[in-house]
Amino acid sequence: MSDVRNVIIIGSGPAGYTAALYTARASLQPLVFEGAVTAGGALMNTTEVENFPGFRDGIMGPDLMDNMRAQAERFGAELVPDDIVSVDLTGDIKTVTDTAGTVHRAKAVIVTTGSQHRKLGLPNEDVLSGRGVSWCATCDGFFFKDQDIAVVGGGDTAMEEATFLSRFAKSVTIIHRRDTLRASKAMQERAFADPKISFAWDSEVAEIHGDQKLAGLTLNNTKTGEKSPLAVTGLFIAVGHDPRTELFKGQLELDGEGYLKVDAPSTRTNVTGVFAAGDVVDHTYRQAITAAGTGCAAALDAERFLAALS
Ligand code: FAD
Repeated sequence: MSDVRNVIIIGSGPAGYTAALYTARASLQPLVFEGAVTAGGALMNTTEVENFPGFRDGIMGPDLMDNMRAQAERFGAELVPDDIVSVDLTGDIKTVTDTAGTVHRAKAVIVTTGSQHRKLGLPNEDVLSGRGVSWCATCDGFFFKDQDIAVVGGGDTAMEEATFLSRFAKSVTIIHRRDTLRASKAMQERAFADPKISFAWDSEVAEIHGDQKLAGLTLNNTKTGEKSPLAVTGLFIAVGHDPRTELFKGQLELDGEGYLKVDAPSTRTNVTGVFAAGDVVDHTYRQAITAAGTGCAAALDAERFLAALS
């Protein structure tokens, strides 16, 4: 068993690295578990990021995350590319256990484990991520000016993405596997009234085509099994997100959709000494800059909590 640290951070996206930077600069020597496979978080899976302030000409997602990582490390954050597999957050001293079974202890824990966008499960989906396939219209819509785009999904997010994208696109086809939408009436009406938006009802994406860039889709009619081509150069997948909160069930309070609940606008969870930030809390904004912003807030909240202990 290790010595008791001031703070342990679980997760390494913009929220985790920002919390690491701030707690390191406050001389709290944070120990950061970055994740075994996906250190760096969601932006490791994309290409150009044009909306993170400070990079006038944009920056590649992995480069942005390498910079954040190096900046946190420069001030003394200890970064470990491993997963935390269990936690006990109940006592004054919190414990987290890594994949080797080593137990790490700390007075404060910051959770920044992010959320996983749901995928369609098709072979080309990951390969073409950032090359025509996207999960975020706010992030990538601008790249698709005057292009034909498809949005998959039937909920509020899909309608919101489609109506946002119709500002840029030549056309937007909403692909939905049923013949009615789950989205709220107001969102549906906005989409129906938009002349650029059309619907492929009772349809699912059967194949994503393209080598270096998305070159089109094959749709499958869920009622007839009939296949048809859809010529698009952009595909936005809006079928939901799963916050990574499995570890915390039964210990931290979750909302109805499984996100961690915090005492907003603070980052305090329902357990004293445990803070949460980034997409694991946020089902509204889901941006790198908002994750970084709440990561900063979590670090400041943890710092004040620790100061009050001494
Ligand atoms: P994440 O970035 O998801 O990081 C969470 C990290 O925690 C992961 O590395 C994960 O492995 C780790 N982790 C999880 N569980 C554990 C555990 N048990 N132990 C240790 N580590 C763990 N936003 C923009 O602002 N601009 C863009 O251009 C943009 N493009 C995007 C493109 C794609 C393809 C995607 C998927 C998202 C994009 N986003 C963009 C959204 C942005 O990436 C997220 O909002 C942001 O990364 C959320 O940051 P986070 O720190 O909360 O979580």
